[in-house]
Formats: sequence, structure tokens, C-alpha cells
Amino acid sequence: MSERILNFSAGPAILPEAVLEEAAQAVREIGGSGMSLLEVSHRGKHYEAIHNDAETRLLRVLGLDAADYAPLFLQGGASLQFAMVPQNFLKPGQAADYVISGDWGAKALKEAKLFGDAREAASSKSDGYSHIPKDLSLTPGARYVHITTNNTIEGTEYFALPDVGDVPLVADSSSDFLALSRDYSRFSLLYAGAQKNAGPAGVTMAVVRRSFLETANTDIPKILAYQTHADTNSLYNTPPTFAIYVVGLVLKWVEEQGGLAAMEARNHAKAAVLYSALDDCALYQPTVTDKADRSLMNVTWRFTDTAREPEFLAEAKTHGMDGLKGHRSVGGLRASIYNAFPAQGVQRLADLLRDFARRNG
Ligand SMILES: *Cc1c(COP(=O)(O)O)cnc(C)c1O
Repeated sequence: MSERILNFSAGPAILPEAVLEEAAQAVREIGGSGMSLLEVSHRGKHYEAIHNDAETRLLRVLGLDAADYAPLFLQGGASLQFAMVPQNFLKPGQAADYVISGDWGAKALKEAKLFGDAREAASSKSDGYSHIPKDLSLTPGARYVHITTNNTIEGTEYFALPDVGDVPLVADSSSDFLALSRDYSRFSLLYAGAQKNAGPAGVTMAVVRRSFLETANTDIPKILAYQTHADTNSLYNTPPTFAIYVVGLVLKWVEEQGGLAAMEARNHAKAAVLYSALDDCALYQPTVTDKADRSLMNVTWRFTDTAREPEFLAEAKTHGMDGLKGHRSVGGLRASIYNAFPAQGVQRLADLLRDFARRNG
């Protein structure tokens, strides 16, 4: 195999090498079955064990109890969740509040407006999404409040969850799922596409509080009802078996690393190395102005002279670094340094940034 690239891509993104090794083995054969994992029935014993193990680990890693939360493996990405959340929990005449901290949250709000009175509770759009909006104007009696825990494109992240009183908190956690040790019981519904920080593309994890689920709309297509997937153990139809297997391996890896507290400590340390290099060099401008809101997952910056950016990207490539170009909607640069990204790789980028600034400063 060729040497591994330092893959700073925002998603699909880097995975732990041990996970890739084990997944490759399962493609050849699973559990002495004489069959590839890709070939076995989703209702057979080989896959059943994998499925149940992944569900158990998901709740355990998040510190949630199966009596209170249903773990779900869904498809359609976080984008389908933008529609499923309001379809399940909103009706004409009912209100839901959305905090718009980035482009993904804006997309979620747009979908929700198709189903009910979805409102913008706060937005940092006028500031270029350079911080997390903290002053919320909440609607009394709202069905839920929706936030985006990490803004993949803009590079901001929630480190303290908003106080929404008794209103159920719903979150798109796609790009910092399994990255921080939060009190996950604060959420009534948390969802995440796997391909950012938790696995390959093709599966979306969700955990939903059972008492919230009981309030869901029932007059919707069966496959789009969370209740259907909760009732069938996420086996209503054929699930993305291989993607769920890999998510299970990632969850096992997270547990072996010391769980979410250890992940969070490592993520803080890695991000600090990069932000300090960016703050120290006048050549760079981190795009998130409120330092307290800077994402540990997606580090975003521009060059004070943007004409220098292509030169840096080309030089980074010669150092085995890829995926550093910012999202096409905002430009600049972005280093996605998810759980599996090695600390020494972050150090190598920080060293290159300092060296490039010295030579071009
Ligand atoms: C990537 C991303 C999405 C979209 O995910 P898909 O799985 O492609 O639908 C939504 N929200 C956030 C925060 C993301 O990072």
C-alpha cells in the first residue's frame, strides 16, 4: 500500500487505521462463516450480533440508558433528518425554534417550514457565522429547539448547550459526534451522519428519547417515522450493514481510547496546536472571531493575502497533506481534525504553517 496521506477532508473523512484493517478483513470473511460481511443476510446470526453490539455501544459511549433512549441506524444522511425531524414532530399551527449558526442549520430550517411554523430563534448569519448565537428568542410552547452542535463549514462549535427549559432539544451533531463528553441526556433527539467523525458514508445515527417519541406524528409514511425504526430495532428494511459494522468498530475504538472524555481531551490538545500557529502568524486570519466558539473539529482560516492560498495548498500537498481547501461556499482553508486524526499530523501542519509564514512574512 502507498503511504497514508494526512487526510484533512471534512467528510467522508479519516478513520482509525485499526478500524480500516478490521473492516478489510470482514470484507473477506465474517466470523468463520465462509462469507463476506457484504454477502450475509441482515437477518442472519452473523450480522445480528454486529447490529446489536453497535446499538449497545452507541448508547454506552453517549452515557444513555436503553430504557430512556432508542438508538437508531437510519439512511439518507443528515439531510434526510432535516425533513424527518419536522415531519415527525411538527404540524401546521405548531411552532419549532431553530438556532442558525451556519449553512447546515439554515437548510434544516428551510425544510421545517414545509411542515409547520418553524422560526429562527437566533442567527449569526449577519456576522458571517463567525460565532455561535447565544441570545435566543424562544417561542413559548414550541415543539422543539433545533441546534447544530458543530458547524462544519464555518468552524464553530457548542461547548455549553443552550438552556431551553422544558422544550425538547434536537441537534444535528454530524461533525462532532463522539468528539466531546457532553451531557447527552440534555438532548431529546440527536442525529449525525456517520461520515464526518464516526464511520463511512451511508448510515445516520440517531438517539431519541422515548418519551419524546411518544409525541410524534403518526400520519406519516412508515419508513419516515422514527417510531417504525425504534419498534423494529432499525431493521424495518435492509439497513446499511457494512456502514453499521464500521460504526460499531469506531465505537469500540473510542471505548478503547478511554471514551468521550479522552477523545475530548485529545481534541482540545490537537486544536490548540493549530490555533496557536494561526494566531501567532500575521499571514493567517482564523475566521472564527469568538475564540470560545472555535471548533475542535474543523479549523477554518484565511490568508490575509488570499492570493497566497493556492501556493500554500500546493506546498501542503508535497508534504502529503490533502483536503485543506475550505468549503466551496466560503473559500479559505479548513483543516478537519476529527477523532481519528493523529496528533503528530496536526503538529506537522502547524509546523508547515509557521515555516511558510517565516518564509513569506
Ligand atoms: C455534512 C453535514 C450535513 C449533511 O450531511 P449528509 O449526510 O450529506 O446529508 C449536515 N449537517 C452537518 C453539520 C454536516 O456536517
